[in-house]
Amino acid sequence: SADFEGLKALVTGGASGIGRATAELLAARGARVAVLDLDPSTVDKPLLGFRADVTDDASVREAVAAAVADLGGLDVLINNAGIGAQGTVEDNADDEWHRVLDVNVVGMVRTARAALPHLRESAHAAIVNTCSIAATAGLPQRALYSATKGAVLSLTLAMAADHLREGVRVNCVNPGTADTPWVGRLLDAAADPAAERAALESRQPSGRLVSADEVAGAIVYLASPLSGATTGTALAVDGGMQGL
Ligand code: NAD
Repeated sequence: SADFEGLKALVTGGASGIGRATAELLAARGARVAVLDLDPSTVDKPLLGFRADVTDDASVREAVAAAVADLGGLDVLINNAGIGAQGTVEDNADDEWHRVLDVNVVGMVRTARAALPHLRESAHAAIVNTCSIAATAGLPQRALYSATKGAVLSLTLAMAADHLREGVRVNCVNPGTADTPWVGRLLDAAADPAAERAALESRQPSGRLVSADEVAGAIVYLASPLSGATTGTALAVDGGMQGL
């Protein structure tokens, strides 16, 4: 179906994993899509690739301006770029906290700040932030990562309130463990990647990982006019983890 016909979307971290699947699904549904990424070299037509580092405000402003000029406006922002961190509060030093917070939280703020003047001009404006079950699950060995995603959840609710009367909806998705290059890299670092994958899958309530396409489906729903009365929500895409 063409429910995004005529709409323009921007996806950060759109060169890989969840962002890539989301950019491709938006394009398949009729949107014109720009991808912002540290490395957009693998981004193919019809997606438009722009190099940007979400920790660098000037780089974000320039890339958003260039993308909006090429797209001819902006209706949808998918704030998805993010990185992982492992350990307890005793394992990560201050500079690591600042580095991961800068990407996962302030990165979304910078992109939203650059995009909002354009989104306000749209009749179907939506922002979807990629959060995580880590925001509320109390996962072990994920203190820093969980704190960044807790901040993304709070940011989503606050932004939804701030921009409601401007016609800009703001929601987030909370994926469980999703089968992306990121998780692939973690598994590859294990002594026995296949055994590690099997163990990870067996810890999931559904016995399998969530696919990047399944997360993209939830993001695209929250970005689409089909969810026009939904703002300030977090949609779980976790294979039943929250409910079980
Ligand atoms: P991924 O590593 O496959 O893709 C992330 C993309 O973000 C990459 O293309 C990378 O280049 C880009 N990126 C990283 N830092 C950037 C920066 N400073 N500026 C611009 N781009 C940058 O990861 P993924 O698994 O697809 O994760 C995407 C999002 O989903 C992240 O926010 C992550 O926290 C979230 N998430 C992932 C999972 C999972 O299990 N994979 C679960 C919950 C939430």
